Amino acid sequence: RAKHSGRSTFSWYTPELDSDAQKRKEVEAGLIKALKYDQFRLLYQPQYSLRDGELKGYEALIRWDHPEKGTIKPDVFIPVAEDTGLIQEIGTWVLNRACREAAMWQDQNRRIAVNVSPAQFIAGETHKRVAQALRNSRLDPGRLEIEITESLLISNTEAVIETLREIRDMGVSIAMDDFGTGYSSLSYLSLFPFDKIKIDKSFVQNLGKATSTDAIVTSIIGLGRSLDVTITAEGVETEEQAILLRAAGCDLVQGFMFGRPDSVEKHEASSPVFPFDGTGRSRILRPQS
Ligand code: C2E
Ligand code: MG
Ligand code: MG
Ligand code: MG
Repeated sequence: RAKHSGRSTFSWYTPELDSDAQKRKEVEAGLIKALKYDQFRLLYQPQYSLRDGELKGYEALIRWDHPEKGTIKPDVFIPVAEDTGLIQEIGTWVLNRACREAAMWQDQNRRIAVNVSPAQFIAGETHKRVAQALRNSRLDPGRLEIEITESLLISNTEAVIETLREIRDMGVSIAMDDFGTGYSSLSYLSLFPFDKIKIDKSFVQNLGKATSTDAIVTSIIGLGRSLDVTITAEGVETEEQAILLRAAGCDLVQGFMFGRPDSVEKHEASSPVFPFDGTGRSRILRPQS
């Protein structure tokens, strides 16, 4: 109704817009406090090799412990942080914290993946911040991986690629996150030598349900093979998905089936059950620790 009746209906939407803007203002004010009072923390989700079940590393995922509202997930506040520019400070905090924690892990072979928001790249300072986080923590650059989404590359392609190149030159690897969700995933693979591709969980979760999804996932894995890019499947929740991914030759898995975002200590103390043995058949395998 409203959208057919022209101008006069503008006010019809106003309360909604107001409350939305109001909510964002609240989140923004909260984020400023969160930075000041140290209310962020990182959870870690493990990534396992599908070949032998070995734990290869972790992705750092931010949480906000709000004093009244409890733990808040990034989908709620990262977009606000991006719009307000606060993502610079939050992103720098994440980088430093992740590198510092990883540098203290008992197992110094584990890699650490950090999400870097497209908005963080606009300043063109990202490589300096990465270098600084590495220096401060003394983390081996070869253990750090930066995850970016393809939306990053849509605008300002050349400057972004230059920045990515500088980061990669330090020995840090670059992963394309949420692969397949945007419309240009494929073309970006020819613009920059990504080290890793993470198949988006929307594909992974439809494995075994639609032959088209199975074909797409199989093709992405084949593409990874021929480009010599490591393929990670994210959002793996069921045995069936894991078995199909392994049969298709996927390198790494990450998902609730193998471990939820949590503390590294907890993950190191537990080993998930893999629905296949070393030959890929039938048996249940517990990865060696
Ligand atoms: P992402 O980088 O694609 O991270 C994966 C998300 O999928 C995480 O959500 C993770 O908890 C969730 N996930 C993992 N396994 C499963 C599964 O088996 N099933 C389902 N349904 N979900 C699974 P989370 O932690 O809520 O993070 C959401 C997004 O927020 C991330 O997506 C990333 O884009 C962003 N984000 C998280 N931490 C940071 C950060 O430190 N900095 C920035 N800039 N963005 C971050
Ligand atoms: Mg990610
Ligand atoms: Mg993702
Ligand atoms: Mg995402």
